[in-house]
Amino acid sequence: MAAETRSFQAEVSKLLHIVANAMYSEREVFLRELISNAADACDKLRFLALSDATLVEGDTEFRIRITADPKAGTLTISDNGIGMTDAELHANLGTIASSGTAAFVDNLSGDAKKDVGLIGQFGVGFYSAFMVADKVEVLTRTAGTDKAWLWTSDGLGEYTVTASEKADRGTIITLYLKKNARAFAEKERLRTVVRTYSDHIPFPIGFVETNEDGVEEVDSLNRASALWTRPKSDISEDDYKEFYHHTGHAFDDPWMTLHWKAEGRIEYHGLLFVPTQAPFDLFHPERRHHVKLYVKRVFITDEVEGLVPSWLRFMKGVIDCADLPLNISREMLQSNPVVTSISQAVTKRVLSELKKKAKKDPEAYATFWRSFGAVIKEGLYANGQEHKDTLLELARFRSSAGDDLVSLADYIARMKENQTAIYYIAAENEETAKASPQLEGFVKKGVEVLYLTDPIDEFWVQAQFDGYDGKPLKSVTRGGADLSTIKGAASDDDTKTAAEDKDPGAASAVDALVASVKLALGEAVKDVRSTDRLADSPVCLVADDNDLDMNLERMLRQHKQLDMAPKRVLELNPDHMLIKGLAKLVKDGKAGVGIEDAAFLLLDQAHILEGEPVADAKAFTKRLSEVMVKALGA
Ligand code: ADP
Ligand code: MG
Repeated sequence: MAAETRSFQAEVSKLLHIVANAMYSEREVFLRELISNAADACDKLRFLALSDATLVEGDTEFRIRITADPKAGTLTISDNGIGMTDAELHANLGTIASSGTAAFVDNLSGDAKKDVGLIGQFGVGFYSAFMVADKVEVLTRTAGTDKAWLWTSDGLGEYTVTASEKADRGTIITLYLKKNARAFAEKERLRTVVRTYSDHIPFPIGFVETNEDGVEEVDSLNRASALWTRPKSDISEDDYKEFYHHTGHAFDDPWMTLHWKAEGRIEYHGLLFVPTQAPFDLFHPERRHHVKLYVKRVFITDEVEGLVPSWLRFMKGVIDCADLPLNISREMLQSNPVVTSISQAVTKRVLSELKKKAKKDPEAYATFWRSFGAVIKEGLYANGQEHKDTLLELARFRSSAGDDLVSLADYIARMKENQTAIYYIAAENEETAKASPQLEGFVKKGVEVLYLTDPIDEFWVQAQFDGYDGKPLKSVTRGGADLSTIKGAASDDDTKTAAEDKDPGAASAVDALVASVKLALGEAVKDVRSTDRLADSPVCLVADDNDLDMNLERMLRQHKQLDMAPKRVLELNPDHMLIKGLAKLVKDGKAGVGIEDAAFLLLDQAHILEGEPVADAKAFTKRLSEVMVKALGA
């Protein structure tokens, strides 16, 4: 029979021109496309054979084979799937079926770099063969017929279809590799590409070689098992582990494995793992997640921003969705409503599993939280109110109550009578937090204070002031302490108010001292006041109600994101010997000009307690020396 040569549809020619100039780094995806077509062809026949078994008679094992001849620079991909008739060859490999795609291709700018990425989203994967080949042959025979056809093209405008011979059903695609694509005739390169994109294609992909004795040997390139599509009951823990190691490039064991199938509006399989150990790139600036997106068992990409929120980026594994087109580009995925729905459902699922685990095994959960809590808390900042209650429920904290991690529910259960807020202190680390003078009064009274020591804490806490279960979060280094209204534990009896009641004169003396210190310090502070926040220290600094918390201020200054620091409030401990003594001097009118030096020394001490430099080291030293000289009586 005569060969029939036809021109490609104009849009195809345009597409081929762009494909031929594809970026080098993108070219390997041609193999994914051809393998996925082969797998589709097997899937289609497998389905038809359900009602007509004769279609697969004599050959019921579906498979994909690859052969290569590095010397000749050829590569073949064959399958024993459904095959194509000559009409199908024309329709599938000469035109672009979808008018939408045709219109899109028609509008391509011809800028290869930009457009190849976009091409991926339309059902035109076959043409990607011309990224690596300057000639392609398709020899095919439809199952259940004995006619075979050979399609050939150099991708330059025309293709030819000829009647041909083929011993069995299916399709063989032969690529005559471009000179600069010869590497794709090498077995190991092929293995790598197959492993990357097609490992879980559910048909064996065998690499066929003929050995010295002329015997064919088949080496399997993929694992042919989409583990996630198999029922849970068929999968052992070791299977999961091995899959986790392979797909997550991980060496630890999964801390938690989630495997489910979602049915309904959007269908997908999820197989996700929480690692035991924090991955090394957990806090890299890109904050990338490691969940791979598959469409119908074909790997698409692991770079879908938003497939899982960045605050769950420690998760590893696979989402396989049947409701997305196979050839979808990353750009298109980012705003895709299917991806958004999946992401929401996955997030909910992960959070609810974490909640269960937290309840069932608090100790194991504490380990998890130590590794990943700082990441999860980003969700309280990034997603605002969306998962707020769940995330706050999941959150664990170190606190002044002891060495165990505490939940907000634990905290609230231990709150003192009349205590209305959840108190926290934000600090660089736990030691600093513990040593903070602002904590003293709380600890003395038995009021628990949470230690927030992750950099993210300052940020989410600003976004979640209204707190948990109707209890606002309040910093002990900001605003008034109002500790007097809280009833302390019986054991740490509230001695202070009692003392004040006995001696109202002392209170007015402190008021007088406050006034003089304020006068002396002038612009150096925002305010001076007496406090019940302190126990052992004479003074401390706090931020005013609506100002930045001090730890955040330090952080921002460190990162040069703050030029003008807000002024702080200096608080005096009316029960401290030093303050009492100074108050008495002022009250008795004996303070004189010395009160100015004393005021600055108090302020400098407060700075030192904060781990901050004093404002004027020279003046500080001079004042301190004078005081010491006086004390020595010299
Ligand atoms: P898509 O796979 O998205 O439909 P392709 O450009 O990859 O787009 O393939 C076009 C069509 O060519 C396929 O839909 C299929 O009908 C046909 N085809 C490609 N490869 C094969 C094959 N190996 N066996 C049977 N049909 C194939
Ligand atoms: Mg395809």
